[in-house]
Amino acid sequence: MSNESKNLDFSTRLLHAPTGIDQLYGSLTVPIFQVSTYNQSALDEQGEFEYSRSGNPTRQAVEETIANLEEGTAGFAFSSGMAAISSVFSIFSSGDEILIGRDIYGGTYRALTEFFPRFGIRPRFTDLSNLESLEKEITPSTKAIYIETPSNPLLGITDIRGIVNIAKKHSLITIADNTFMTPYLQKPLTLGVDIVIHSATKYIGGHSDVLAGLVIVKDEKLKKQIRFVQNAFGAVLGPQDSWLLLRGIRTLQVRLDRIQESSLKIARFLKEQPGIEEVYYPGLEDHPDYALHHSQATGDGGIVSFKLNSEEQIKPFLEKLHLPALAVSLGGVESILSYPATMSHAGMPKKVREELGITDTLFRLSVGLESPEDLINDLRQALS
Ligand SMILES: *Cc1c(COP(=O)(O)O)cnc(C)c1O
Repeated sequence: MSNESKNLDFSTRLLHAPTGIDQLYGSLTVPIFQVSTYNQSALDEQGEFEYSRSGNPTRQAVEETIANLEEGTAGFAFSSGMAAISSVFSIFSSGDEILIGRDIYGGTYRALTEFFPRFGIRPRFTDLSNLESLEKEITPSTKAIYIETPSNPLLGITDIRGIVNIAKKHSLITIADNTFMTPYLQKPLTLGVDIVIHSATKYIGGHSDVLAGLVIVKDEKLKKQIRFVQNAFGAVLGPQDSWLLLRGIRTLQVRLDRIQESSLKIARFLKEQPGIEEVYYPGLEDHPDYALHHSQATGDGGIVSFKLNSEEQIKPFLEKLHLPALAVSLGGVESILSYPATMSHAGMPKKVREELGITDTLFRLSVGLESPEDLINDLRQALS
């Protein structure tokens, strides 16, 4: 990784840091090293790579790229966002507790409530927006605080600096899922967070064609711990999928610039509609944490959630809506409408869901690159 790249603008770094031009043939893209093992010149002489679970040049290129973009010292690529998240939780031991908000990605909730407790690693759910009550939840077993901001699907904001201060006071590790913002809009490591996670399936890949997860750290000890889990547990990203991430990430900024512009227009439009009960988007000035969000992020992203007035509206709305795909996932070039109750948050009991405000009338729109006017017209006729 070249140090000069740190002085370049983010848009330039997306293209010029840190993998550069292939030294062998001068190709402008990183070749796909479709290989599992590497020749050793002698028993006691090992090359840079030995076996692709431990390291692969194409995967290394994407790992270095994301480390650079997030201002970390090491990146790690996994076979999915959940593989990345579960690998991070695997650095903890039986008896350890993780403080976490309830308004989180459904898969993370499922892993922490149904999978990790089998190994003695448990979540302690709390309201991360209340820093005072949060501090009272810390016990001798607490080892980490896990944040997702803006949260999924209600776009709640967590005070990253506030959480980091408390964590440092109690020697806890802070972990941030930065999927919704990407390093273009928010860089948690620069705010003191220890571990950043991405579902790269979303904006980083950006084209709804690859499943991947990324982890980025700065600290040497954490780097060793994550590297150990990545190799020992083995949920690594393959070379083809690593290449797809490298291809997708190059256009991250232009995609997000366009997506954000459209998202704000759509959020403002939805707010005016009588059939809509509520709109959630951190770019709306009346979002309750508008100022907090803008103190830690440089943009608002492309997720607009909203509630219809009644359950009776759901069927006709979906029947009439043409442009957005009705699907799970987000962050692709095409708009995707999802229904958290039975999709992303199916892993959460209905009672918990409803208490959080994830009701049966809630939809989450991941705004894509279509013309915002076309999207608005489509929403207008579907709501009429
Ligand atoms: C999708 C998602 C995940 C899980 O990632 P996968 O790639 O689907 O395994 C984790 N966190 C957030 C915020 C997500 O949106």
